[in-house]
Amino acid sequence: MSASNVDLNSFQPERIAFELPAWIDDYCRAYSRSEVPEARMAYVIGAAAKNVEQGTGGPFAAGIFEIDTGALVSLGVNLVVPQGLSILHAEMVAIALAQRKLGVHELSAEGLPGYELVTSTEPCAMCFGAIPWSGVQRLVTGAISQDATDIGFDEGPKPDNWVEALEQRGIRVIREQQRVAARTILQAYADRGGPIYSPSSIRQRP
Ligand SMILES: [Zn+2]
Repeated sequence: MSASNVDLNSFQPERIAFELPAWIDDYCRAYSRSEVPEARMAYVIGAAAKNVEQGTGGPFAAGIFEIDTGALVSLGVNLVVPQGLSILHAEMVAIALAQRKLGVHELSAEGLPGYELVTSTEPCAMCFGAIPWSGVQRLVTGAISQDATDIGFDEGPKPDNWVEALEQRGIRVIREQQRVAARTILQAYADRGGPIYSPSSIRQRP
């Protein structure tokens, strides 16, 4: 059913769900816990590459890990186009999966260890906004926002001082970890002709 012939007199959906790519379960099981932060980023970048290779979404991945042990809690990839939901950026998917898995709405809940969000590209305006509510204590990023905008993605109206804004809330930010490797995945996606979506407000700008 296309958007134009939806019966608007019908009620809205009673629940909403999204499906992860079939490959992601095996990929998660293959994770070997590492106390080395670089290994976690390499693993996340590998997931972004897999999402591109398999054609299951955009060239972005993100994981939630226990900071101290390196244990993987959840792994998300960008699912915007295949699932038809603009909120399904990799970071949002990873945060939602971790919270559902742990049964908390905030990952800083009492009794839990500290968690970090490791993302293959710096967060957009939406994901930046979601991070303080997620409860993660650390953010680790790979490619920079400019790398994403270079291939046509839009990062949205994120404040220039976004790093300081997170740090002021007690969220440590580590940037440009394996940036080149992460950027390579973005370029591979663009070279394959993967869909580059952006807000129509941007597309229509003269
Ligand atoms: Zn985002």
